[in-house]
Amino acid sequence: MNNNSFLLSAKGICIAVFLSLNTVVYAQKTAGISAVSEKTLSTILEKNRAFYTQGKVADYIPELGKMDAKAIAFSVVEKNGKVLNVGDVQKKFTMQSISKIIALMIAVNEKGEANVFEKMGYFGTDKPFNHFSNLETTGKPLNPMMNAGAILTTSLISGDGEKPFQKILDMVRYITKNQTIDYSKSVYESEKSTGHRNRGMFYLMKNNGLITGNEDQLDNYFRQCSIEVTAEDLAKIGYFFANECVRFDGDSQYKNTEVAQLIESQMLTAGMYEFSGEYTRTVGLPSKSGVGGGITVSVPGKMGIGVFSPALDQHGNSAAGYHMILDFVKQYHLSLF
Ligand code: GLN
Repeated sequence: MNNNSFLLSAKGICIAVFLSLNTVVYAQKTAGISAVSEKTLSTILEKNRAFYTQGKVADYIPELGKMDAKAIAFSVVEKNGKVLNVGDVQKKFTMQSISKIIALMIAVNEKGEANVFEKMGYFGTDKPFNHFSNLETTGKPLNPMMNAGAILTTSLISGDGEKPFQKILDMVRYITKNQTIDYSKSVYESEKSTGHRNRGMFYLMKNNGLITGNEDQLDNYFRQCSIEVTAEDLAKIGYFFANECVRFDGDSQYKNTEVAQLIESQMLTAGMYEFSGEYTRTVGLPSKSGVGGGITVSVPGKMGIGVFSPALDQHGNSAAGYHMILDFVKQYHLSLF
């Protein structure tokens, strides 16, 4: 062997060693990332359980005030559709604003994105979910995630009386493959009898010509907010939008890349209301919260996450829920950024 060929083969060995080392490191990394277990979820849950003391259960809808502040649950649906649950997995709570992403999907499937967004914006917000003073200035809701835009969105779903609500309920049942899901009559009655601010928005938008129907349409919004789910149901909803509207078991009857992108982009820009910017910085994933204490998260192309803990922070987002998501996302490097 002359000097040159010796050097060449030494170089070859070095490259081979380098490449195989890289493969080992990559394999270790991906093994770590895919190895989500109920044990890991449980550790994260226990670490963050006490955060409920920093929040407050919503009581502006009187029935919601009856929730057990200490209840907590954490669910993940992995890429292959496997479901992992820890905590109070049987505990049901109302979807509240998380129902807005389902209503948006149905309205856009029926009317087309352009017709829906002719009536409202794609804006983010620096204001809470029930803010609506811009209806007086720009005349249109900021986005379909805040109450004004969501009430308008539901009014755009076709059908008389309760039909639009029934479509939302059926879609939640389909996505979660859980036909037992229903709405809480007591939470619905409670919100209907106290939701004067939402009623005010409804009539302002009727005055602006954005809404043409009667108060049945507002009732459908109150009903959709009262749909009862578990953290597991929320993880399945997160999975659905993360995977082009394909269900966790692979059923692709609603597969639609465009609609999934639209919903995820709305979740990212406005799903956590005025906290959305900071949330995108820290968590970096499309997410939607509700004042019932749930948050659903989509990890695009991968998994769905559902958390529940009813004590809310000052933005109306679950305090412990946020911290569980934050830890999980850091541990598995799930941020989009
Ligand atoms: N039903 C609630 C309301 O309209 C929904 C708000 C929320 O979950 N952020 O006030």
